[in-house]
Amino acid sequence: MAIRHGIDLDKARALHERETEDFLARHSRSLELAVRAGEHLLFGVPLHWMDDWPTPRSLFLAVARNARLTDVDGHVYADFCLGDTGAMFGHSPAPVAEAIARESARGLTAMLPGEDALWVAEELSRRFGLPVWQFALSASDANRFAIRWARAVTGRDRILVFNGCYHGTVDDVFVDLAGGQATPRSSLLGQVYDLTEHTRVVEFNDLAALEDALGDCRVACVLAEPAMTNIGMVLPDPGYWEQAQAIIRRHGSLLLLDETHTISCGPGGYAAAHGLRPDMLVLGKPLAGGLPAAAYGFSAELAARAQQAKRAAPPGHSGIGTTLSANRLACAAMRANLAEVMTEDNYRIMFERAGQLAQGLRELFARFALPWCVTQLGARCEFQFTARPPRNGSEAEAGQDEELERCIHLYLLNRGLLITPFHNMLLFSPHTSEADGQHLLEAFSAWLEGTVA
Ligand code: PMP
Repeated sequence: MAIRHGIDLDKARALHERETEDFLARHSRSLELAVRAGEHLLFGVPLHWMDDWPTPRSLFLAVARNARLTDVDGHVYADFCLGDTGAMFGHSPAPVAEAIARESARGLTAMLPGEDALWVAEELSRRFGLPVWQFALSASDANRFAIRWARAVTGRDRILVFNGCYHGTVDDVFVDLAGGQATPRSSLLGQVYDLTEHTRVVEFNDLAALEDALGDCRVACVLAEPAMTNIGMVLPDPGYWEQAQAIIRRHGSLLLLDETHTISCGPGGYAAAHGLRPDMLVLGKPLAGGLPAAAYGFSAELAARAQQAKRAAPPGHSGIGTTLSANRLACAAMRANLAEVMTEDNYRIMFERAGQLAQGLRELFARFALPWCVTQLGARCEFQFTARPPRNGSEAEAGQDEELERCIHLYLLNRGLLITPFHNMLLFSPHTSEADGQHLLEAFSAWLEGTVA
C-alpha cells in the first residue's frame, strides 16, 4: 500500500478515476465547447494555464454572481476561488456593476485624468498611509513599474525577492534557490537573459540571509508579499518584519510590498493591520471589483525622488505605464469598490467565516489524525500537507502534492465546491455563507473517509 501524507494513494487514485468519469458524464456542454475551443485557442483555452485546472476537460462558465458560479451545463458551485482574489468581494458587486453600467456610456478611456482617479488616490492614501499613487492594469504591471521606479530612484541595479515568491509575470522575480544557489525558475518559457545577474533571492524568515544579501548596498528594493501566499501560505515569524524593515533601511534599500493577495487582511492590507511601513505598495486583482486595474503607492520621500529622477532623465519613453491604465471606467469601478464594497463591515463577515472554516478544517484533520496544517490570513485560509506551518518557500514547497491536490479539488468540484487551483487556498467573500463552509467540510470529510490510510 503506497501512502503519502497519510493518504492511501491506491484508494485516492481509484476514487479519482470515478470522479473523472462522473465529471465527463455530467458536463456534455462544457465538453462540446472544449472540442470547439481546441480549434482556435492554444490548448483550447484563452490562457494556457486555464488548461491546468484539475478538471479532465475545461469547465466553461456561464454566469458568476456573488459567491456562486453556474457552468454551461447548469451546475452551480460555491466559489472559494473567487478568481484567485480578483472577485474577493463576490462576483459583480452591485455598487461596482452599477458604476460600470452608469459610466460605460460616458467614455471608457481617453488618456486624460478624471476626478475619480483623484478620489481613488485620496482614498488609497488614507487607507495605506502612502500619500502618492500611480495606476496600472494588472498587479504584474504595477510590480514591474514599481521595480523600475525603485531602480531609477536609488541608482542601484539589483532587487531581492524571497524563495518561492510569485509577483505576476515579472521576469526579474523568477529566481529560486536551488541547493543554496540563485537559479532562474526552470519552468520559464522563452526567457533568455541571465535573471540572476540582477536578482538576489533568500529564504523568507531568514534575517541573517537578508542582512547578508543587502550588505554590499547594491539592492534597490526588496519585493515581498508581507506573508507569502503563492507557494502555499507562509506567515512571518513574530517580530520578523520589524527587524527586516530595519535591515532594509540600514542598507539604503527600499521595501516594496506586494499586497495583491494580502489585501485579504483588511481594508488597508497586511501593512496597515500589522504596522508595516513600506516605501512602495502594490495593489491589484480585487481593487476594481474584478475589472482590470492596479495601483502602486509611494512614500512622500520616494515620490519626491521619483519625480526628480523623471525630470532629470532625457525626454522620451520611461518604460513605465501603458495606454489603458487609469482609464475612466476602471477609475469609476475602483471608486465604487473602495467606497461601498471594500468596507470594514464586509471584512468582518469574511474574517469570521474564514475563521470558522479554518477551525473546522483543523478539527477535521485532527479527527483523521492527518499531519496537515491550516493557516489563515484574514479572509483566506489554506490547508497544507505538512504537520507544522512552513516557515519559508522551501518548506512550503515540500508540503505541496499536485496529485493529491487534483484528487481533492475534482472531488469537491463534483459536489459543487470550487477551490483555487495550483494550491489549496480557500477564499471568503462577504456572500460566502456559513452553510457553504459546512458543505465544504462535509464533502472533504467524505473524501477523507474514502482515502485515509
Ligand atoms: N502579486 C501577487 C502576490 C500575486 O499573487 C499575483 C497573481 N497571482 C500577482 C501579483 C499578479 O497579478 P496579475 O496576474 O493580476 O497581474
